[in-house]
Amino acid sequence: MKTPYFSEEHAILRAQIRKFVETEIVPNGDAWEQDGSVPREFLRKMGELGYLGLMHEEKYGGSGMDVRAATILAEELGRSTYAGVTITALVHTNMASPHLANAGSVAQKQKYLPDVVSGKKITAICVTEPGAGSDVAGIKTRAVRDGNDWVINGSKIFITNGVFGDLYFVAAKTDPGAKGSRGISIFIVEKGTPGFSVGRSLKKHGWRSSDTAELFFDNVRVPVENLLGEENKGFYAVMKNFQHERIMLAAMGVGEAQKAIEITLDNVKQRQAFGAPLFSKDVVRDNLARMQTKIALAQNYLYYVAWLDAQGVDCIKEVSMLKANACEIANEVMYGCVQLHGGMGFMMESTIERMSRDARVLTIGGGTTEIMYGEVAKRM
Ligand SMILES: Cc1cc2nc3c(=O)[nH]c(=O)nc-3n(C[C@H](O)[C@H](O)[C@H](O)COP(=O)(O)OP(=O)(O)OC[C@H]3O[C@@H](n4cnc5c(N)ncnc54)[C@H](O)[C@@H]3O)c2cc1C
Repeated sequence: MKTPYFSEEHAILRAQIRKFVETEIVPNGDAWEQDGSVPREFLRKMGELGYLGLMHEEKYGGSGMDVRAATILAEELGRSTYAGVTITALVHTNMASPHLANAGSVAQKQKYLPDVVSGKKITAICVTEPGAGSDVAGIKTRAVRDGNDWVINGSKIFITNGVFGDLYFVAAKTDPGAKGSRGISIFIVEKGTPGFSVGRSLKKHGWRSSDTAELFFDNVRVPVENLLGEENKGFYAVMKNFQHERIMLAAMGVGEAQKAIEITLDNVKQRQAFGAPLFSKDVVRDNLARMQTKIALAQNYLYYVAWLDAQGVDCIKEVSMLKANACEIANEVMYGCVQLHGGMGFMMESTIERMSRDARVLTIGGGTTEIMYGEVAKRM
């Protein structure tokens, strides 16, 4: 498809990732769903091919590309139909590690980024707590300065890559007296730090090959060098990176929804009912055409917003509209595609059944639809 937002280089990248998805994810995805995790060798392979460092600086092993490259990665991984694999990779590449890339000191980046880009170290971003999700300013995890250390106490929940990660970027209150969003800082916590433990691996409705954990911090000491970015400015770092995360979730949704249409189209062209393929029925054709139209519009808005963001334009309103709209449409499409599969769409052996479960969280994670429309309304 011709588009003003992407170059020839992007087209090559897309073709390479599409092939990678077909050869490396599709044949293995079911087994990884059963295991509840994505093997480290797979992530290393992504690292070797450069897919974990598309946006990271070249001096640390990355490709120094902009958010359009990451959008292609997210959309193509979304087309794999295994959203658990997609989110495992994307949390590492585009939701957690940007905290290090954007706010890290040269010393922190030299120490960690090459391993992040190669897939030797997998990252997680730890903001949500049992008592605070949408309301990030309401977190209770506390970090107190003690000599040359910070001492962290508290807990986190729903943390992607929480079980199998190596490097955790943890939001904690450093000035509990500060009003609202002020007084939060981010810390680098390495797996194995005394007092840091991984609790339950949470069982989920979808994204089953992605590990999601509860984390506990019991007097976890980290050296002052592990403060990531400015003290008490962590809320702004989280909000800034959320923009990027939201574009990624929208891209996943678009990729997944487009693939769901293709799978469903194949199905209704083969499935015979009342003496003809289902696709010969006007209602079925109309239904698919309506869904395809909605995806095309969401996809084009995705590309526009990715381009806008790549120009360095402040586009919180546009990102919020995109995230809400694309993720809602992905769910609408999954519902419609299950319906067109009939009873088979309800069976766990059908791809669309898994895809519809996986898509559900897109309107919740990284900022719910309601929160997104709240951001839009604030700017109207
Ligand atoms: C599978 C999965 C993986 C995740 N991975 C991570 C991760 O890696 N790191 C991380 O930090 N977090 C992660 N999260 C957490 C995720 O970002 C939160 O679940 C999300 O932000 C919503 O927060 P909450 O669950 O506390 O819901 P709540 O904030 O309690 O919201 C509940 C409902 O109330 C609505 N609501 C809340 N506030 C308002 C308001 N002001 N106006 C109108 N409606 C409102 C919401 O829209 C929602 O419908 C993950 C979640 C899931 C399910």
